[in-house]
Parts: sequence; structure tokens; C-alpha cells
Amino acid sequence: MAVKKVVVEEEEVKSKPKAKAKPKAKKVKVPNTLRGFRDVLPDEQFYWDMVIDKARQLSDDYSFGRVRLPLLEKTSLFERSVGKGTDIVEKEMFSFADQSNDRVTLRPEATAQIARAYIEHGMLNMPQPVKMYYIGQMFRYDRPQAGRYRQFWQWGLEAIGSDEPIIDAQVILVCVRMMQELGLDVMVKINSIGTEDIRRGYTMELVSYFKQFRSKLSELDKKRLTKNPLRLLDSKEEGIEELKADAPQILDHLDEKSKADFMKVLEYLDEVEVPYELDPFLVRGLDYYSKTVFEIVAIDKEGKQGTISLAGGGRYDSLIPQLGGRSEAGGAMGAAVGIERVINAMKHKGIDVPKRRKVDVFFAQLGEAARRKGLAIFEKFRAEGIVTAEAFGKGSLKAQLEMADKLEAKITLILGQKEVLDGTVIIRDMESGGQEIVPIEKVVELAKRSLNN
Ligand code: AMP
Repeated sequence: MAVKKVVVEEEEVKSKPKAKAKPKAKKVKVPNTLRGFRDVLPDEQFYWDMVIDKARQLSDDYSFGRVRLPLLEKTSLFERSVGKGTDIVEKEMFSFADQSNDRVTLRPEATAQIARAYIEHGMLNMPQPVKMYYIGQMFRYDRPQAGRYRQFWQWGLEAIGSDEPIIDAQVILVCVRMMQELGLDVMVKINSIGTEDIRRGYTMELVSYFKQFRSKLSELDKKRLTKNPLRLLDSKEEGIEELKADAPQILDHLDEKSKADFMKVLEYLDEVEVPYELDPFLVRGLDYYSKTVFEIVAIDKEGKQGTISLAGGGRYDSLIPQLGGRSEAGGAMGAAVGIERVINAMKHKGIDVPKRRKVDVFFAQLGEAARRKGLAIFEKFRAEGIVTAEAFGKGSLKAQLEMADKLEAKITLILGQKEVLDGTVIIRDMESGGQEIVPIEKVVELAKRSLNN
């Protein structure tokens, strides 16, 4: 087809009348987000889409069904499950009395909710284990710092109704695959904290060990010694490292069943080549955990392990009965992956994500009539599934063509006042710069042809 060069004249820009001097504006206080809360703007959205798409895809692949849970629950749910003496319940919950004076809490985590939902909806009658996943916001009044927010997103996996160690391995595997497939190198830190009985005995031994060194403990660790002694093991306070080295280890105290189950979990992980290392000090901060507990950290280009966990989880075999559910449920295993932390790790590693949809067609207009027609043309292209971009807010052709270039559009449609009168549109091939004038009613068909050439 012959290609004609066409020149489109820009609309005359009318000169603006001089603005009158305005009275001095009152200083208005600009609103901002709460500390620890953040907006996710369109440019970062590409990371979010990639991570959440991956989470959804893996959940489907491994047969976890999506649940959408409320953001608000009765405060007592978390007190009874996460535990009254834990940091989360003691210091970090956004709790308030609602209009009926009921104590409610913005969820700090979702495992307790899943357990509630399992019981409330009689899921014991479904084939076990019931495998579910969620993606959503959690709220913790934590001290904000890099990678720690007061509102953050988690992708969580839960498998309720089985105490088979293979379930532990599968949940860990899914989290690891998600991160690997997003381009991260990761390491699983894993431990077993045994059953409640074992833990009770072990905790007493731990307390008597640390009591000898009470004077060497920080104020915070002294508090932990009385309130939640297991937390001494993952304390990062000054001086604790040396003391921990000689502390009794829970792995040496495990009962035969816990030990055998833990060995099986490790064997399953070996089988699917999940990188892990034992961490005898990993206990995690929530009361409901038993047996397997784990965290996942990133490994950087130099092979160094990160200190911030990307995911964490473990078994919670007694949570369902503890909340009044039927005990035949037979154990449960879960994990939560921090979405912001995975995104931060991807950025840190320089993993690129495609920044925008690939644009096929750019629509450029000059003048009000062209703009109006443009709205309808845009609709036609969209209905055909052709990815079309526009800049209705821009007036100058130069600026619009620059934008088309930036978006790497294959063709640009140009509609000026003359074309509106003639009932035509210009199709410009962005690579060659060649242009042709086509009848407006044929623009979709001919543009499609140009795109396929
Ligand atoms: P947890 O629910 O404490 O077991 O945490 C599971 C995962 O959620 C962690 O490994 C983090 O990736 C993420 N996470 C927990 N707390 C925060 C927070 N305050 N800000 C951002 N991510 C968090």
C-alpha cells in the first residue's frame, strides 16, 4: 500500500490573560499516612501483580482453595490462640471497642481465623486435610523499620486435618518454590519444638539454665524469662548469643514421635531439593505452634543469608481443640509469606519486572472534536482486544508521539480536525515513520493488518 506523508497542524494555543494577584492562601496542613502504613503506587503495582499472581498460581497447583476472611474479629479469638503472653497480643494489636462495646481487633495474623472458620463451617466433615490459602492485610502495632510495617500483606497456606509430616514438607515446599520462581535464592531455617508436654518440661530446664545468668540479661530478656522463656532463644539482645550457645536444646528433648516425624519432614525436603538448615534456636513467637517450625530467609549474590524472614510457619496441632473444635481434626500445618518482604528482596536483588502492558496502538488526537471521536475509537479497539493507550489529557502532537515512542507502541493513530471533517484517520508506523490515511470506519481492520505485518 502506498504510504503518503501527511502533516498535521497543531491547534493554535490561545494566550492566557494575566492572572490577578491572589490573596495570600491560608496554610493548610497536608494529610499523610499513619506511621507504618503505606500507599502502593502504580509503578510498584507490577511487583505486586507478579508476586500475587505467582502465589495464586502455586496455591492452585498444589490444591489450596482461596478463603476471604474478615479483617476484624473478636479480640478474644487472638487472645485464645496466639496467646496472651505473646508480643502480638500484649503490645501489637489494633484493638478497640465497637459501637456495641464489643472488643474487636484488626487481625494481626490469619491462622487463628482459619481455625475459627474451620470449626464454624464444620469443615471436619470435608475430606481431610482441608487446604486453604488467603492473601490479605494484617495489622500489627510493631516498631516500623525497613521491611516492618503496621499494615502488611501475607499470602498464607493452611492444611488442617492431618498430622502427616509430608504435609509439613509440602507447605514449606510451596513457599520455597514461590520465591525461587520469582528469582530469589532462599534458605529454610527449620526446627522442631515438640509437643506441649515436651515444651513444658524443656521450658523449665531452660528457665533454670538462664536464671544462673539473670544479672547478664537485658531488661527485655529478664521479662522474657518470666513471661515467655522460649523467646530467649530467638532474642537478639546484647550478650545473649554466648549464653544461648550452651543452653539446653529442644531437639535433645523431643519425644520419639516428634523426633521421627521431624526426620521425615527433613527427608521429604531432601527429596524435592529444598535447601534447609537446622536452627535449634528457632521457636517463633506464637503460642499455638508445636513440632515443626520454620522460617525462610533470602540469600544474596555473595551467598550471605538475610537476617529478616520472608516467611514463617509451622504446625499447630492443638489449636483446633483448644478453640473448642473436634479433636479428630488430627493436626494442622501453616505458613505465611510476607508480600512486601518478598518484593523488597526482589528489588534488592535487582530482579526486573515488566513495567507495563505491551501497547500495540497509541491514539493521538488534536482538537476537541477529535478527542470526542477518539473516545469511541478507543472503545472499538478495546472491544477487539487490542491493547491501546491514549493521552486525552495532552494537547500537543509532539508530546503524544513522544509518549507513543516511550510506550513502544507499534502504530499510532492520529486524528486531527481535518481528519474528523474528512472522516479519516492517519495510521503511523512507529518504526518506519511511514503514514497512511484510512477511512475511519475501516481503521480497526486496517490497523490490525498493520499490526500483523
Ligand atoms: P508471622 O505471622 O509473624 O509468622 O510472619 C510471617 C511473615 O510475615 C514474616 O516472615 C514476614 O515476611 C511477614 N511479616 C510479619 N510481620 C511483618 C511486618 N510487621 N511487616 C511486614 N511483614 C511482616
